[in-house]
Amino acid sequence: MPLYEYYCEHCNGIFEAIRQMRDASDPSPCPECSREAPRMMSTFAAFTMRDGYPRRIPDKGTYWHMGKEVKQRAKRMKGFEHPELAKPKPTPRPKRGEVAASRDKARTEYGEAGYRDKWGVDQYGMRTAKTAKKKKNPRTLGG
Ligand SMILES: [Zn+2]
Repeated sequence: MPLYEYYCEHCNGIFEAIRQMRDASDPSPCPECSREAPRMMSTFAAFTMRDGYPRRIPDKGTYWHMGKEVKQRAKRMKGFEHPELAKPKPTPRPKRGEVAASRDKARTEYGEAGYRDKWGVDQYGMRTAKTAKKKKNPRTLGG
């Protein structure tokens, strides 16, 4: 059976274990603390610095940001937050006062619109197309 290397984060130690090939990628218990230790291949990937950014070898053209793979280099970051990794911001909930204000505004506008529509004028007091059309084809009541 082949020999594999494992790394225990707890002990900060590397140990070797003989494992079945099919079990090689599974974590192995640490001989010191008997915690599950991952295989070194996955943990210790080779990195290179390019454009001031760590890139994993083999280079797939991707970048690594805080241990996470990203497609693009961060051009603008808030702190250390990469835009690709940043969670979408939750839409800010309007405050109670704002809701009431917008509701009042909408109600007022709706009321005014209804009023203007009734009299066939726009918000500047000018006659609307509706009124003009009505004038062209006046409807008489009762024929
Ligand atoms: Zn250990």
